[in-house]
Amino acid sequence: MRRASVALLLVSFVAACAPDAQESFDAPLDRPPNFVVVFADDLGWGDLGSYGAPVIRTPHLDRMAAEGQRWTNFYVTASVCSPSRAGLLTGRLPVRNGLYGDQVRVLFPGFVGGIQDEEITLAEALRDLGYSTGMFGKWHLGDGPRYLPTRHGFDYWFGIPYSNDMMSTLPREERRAAFLDPKIEYWDVPLIRSERDEAGEIVTETLEQPADQTTITKRYAEEAVEFIRAHRDEPFFVYLPHSMPHVPLFRAPGFEDHSGAGLYGDVIEEIDWSVGRILDTLEEEGIAGNTVVFFSSDNGPWTAFRTQGGLAGPLREGKGMTWDGGMRVPGLFWWPGTIAPEVVTNEIGSTSDLFATFLSLSGGAVPDDRPMDSLDLAPVLRGRGEGPREEVPFYRGSELYAYRVGNYKAHFVTEGEYGLAGERREHDPPLLYHLALDPGEQWDIAADRPEILADVISRALQHRAGVAVAPSEFDLRTGR
Ligand code: MG
Repeated sequence: MRRASVALLLVSFVAACAPDAQESFDAPLDRPPNFVVVFADDLGWGDLGSYGAPVIRTPHLDRMAAEGQRWTNFYVTASVCSPSRAGLLTGRLPVRNGLYGDQVRVLFPGFVGGIQDEEITLAEALRDLGYSTGMFGKWHLGDGPRYLPTRHGFDYWFGIPYSNDMMSTLPREERRAAFLDPKIEYWDVPLIRSERDEAGEIVTETLEQPADQTTITKRYAEEAVEFIRAHRDEPFFVYLPHSMPHVPLFRAPGFEDHSGAGLYGDVIEEIDWSVGRILDTLEEEGIAGNTVVFFSSDNGPWTAFRTQGGLAGPLREGKGMTWDGGMRVPGLFWWPGTIAPEVVTNEIGSTSDLFATFLSLSGGAVPDDRPMDSLDLAPVLRGRGEGPREEVPFYRGSELYAYRVGNYKAHFVTEGEYGLAGERREHDPPLLYHLALDPGEQWDIAADRPEILADVISRALQHRAGVAVAPSEFDLRTGR
C-alpha cells in the first residue's frame, strides 16, 4: 500500500514536472538570478575529483559538476593573485587598469596603489541593478581605506585584505621553514568586517589580528550562509574568495587527517565542505533554481612549495607561469533547472567573462565607455550555442608571454615559477603547442605548422595593438 502510493506520487510528480523541467531550460526568468562565486586561492586544475584528483575527495564540488557544467578550458587573466582577482571583478585585463606589476607581481600591505574608483566592478554593476552584494574572504586589490571592497561595490565584507602569508612576524631566514609547521602567530594578518551603518557611512573594524586561520575557511562560509539567508527574497551577489589553499595551510580541527593527501588535501576537503554548505543553504531556502553558483581558482598550484602545493593535472607547471598549469583552472557552473546536468564543455572561458555573462543573465549591460575583455558565456550555460571565446592572452605583468587561438598556443617568452628565481627565455621562433592533443605543452610543433604559427602571431599582435597599457599600480610600492 505504502509502496503503491509512493509510486503513484512519483508518477504524478514526474508527469507534473516533466514539461516544466523541459521548458525551464529556455524559459525567461521572472526575476534575475542570484550569483555565488567561490574562488579558491592557488588551487590547481587537477585538485578536484571531477578533474581527476587521485586521492583528494570533493563530493560537493563533484556534485556541482554532475548537476551542472564543467569547463575543461577555463582561464584566469593572470597567474598570480592580485591581477587575477582584478580580471574577475572588472571584466578587463589587468594591463588595462594598472592592476599588475613588472617589478612586484602582487600588492603588499601598505602599498599606495590599488583598484581605482573609475573601474566598474561586477559588484557595482550588479548593485546598480538592485542586487545586495556580500564578500567573504580575500580581497588583494589594495589595503588602503579607499581601496577596500565596501568602496568598490560590496555592501558587506568579512575577510582578509591580502594574502594569508603576508605580515610575517619571523626573521626572513626562518620564513620558509615556518610553512612546514604553520602557527597562527607567524602571520599578523587582520580579519576585517566592513559595512555601511544606518547613516550610510562605511564602518570598518579589525575583528582580530592575527586572524585565526584555522577557522577562516569555516567562518567565510558561515558568514556567506548567513548573508544568503538574510537576502533570500531579493537578488544577491555573493563573492567568496577563500584564503586557502594558499600557503600557510590551515584547516579546522575536524579536517585534520581528513583526506589521505596530507595537509593540502585536508584544506581542499574543507573548501569542498564549505561549497556543500552553500548548496545546501540555497536548497533549504528554496532558491537553488534561481541561483548561479560558480567555482574556480585564482591561479594554478604553487609548485615552488612542492608537496604543499596542489596539482595541475595533465597541464604544465603552475602559479606565476604562463604555461597552462599557471592559468588554466577548474570552472564549474551550477544552476539547477537552467544549466543541464552532466555537461562537460571544451569551449574556452575566462574569469573575465563572468562580468558580461552575469550582466546578460541579470538584464544589465556591459559598460560601453571602455575596452572590456568580457564575453557572454550565457548561450553555452543554457545549452543554446557555441562559446564566443576563441582567444586567450597570457600576460606576465604588462608583457604578453603567450597567446592561444582555438586549440593552438604560442609562447613568445617563458619564465620560472612564482617565488623562485627562474630563467627568462625568449623564443624566436615562438613555441607552438596543440592544447587538445598535447595539454601538457610538451611537443613543440612550430616547425611543422608555420602557417598556424604565423596566424597565432598575427592575432597576438592584433590583440596587443588594441591594448593601451595603464601605468602599474603595484610598482608604485610605497611611494606615488
Ligand atoms: Mg593565488
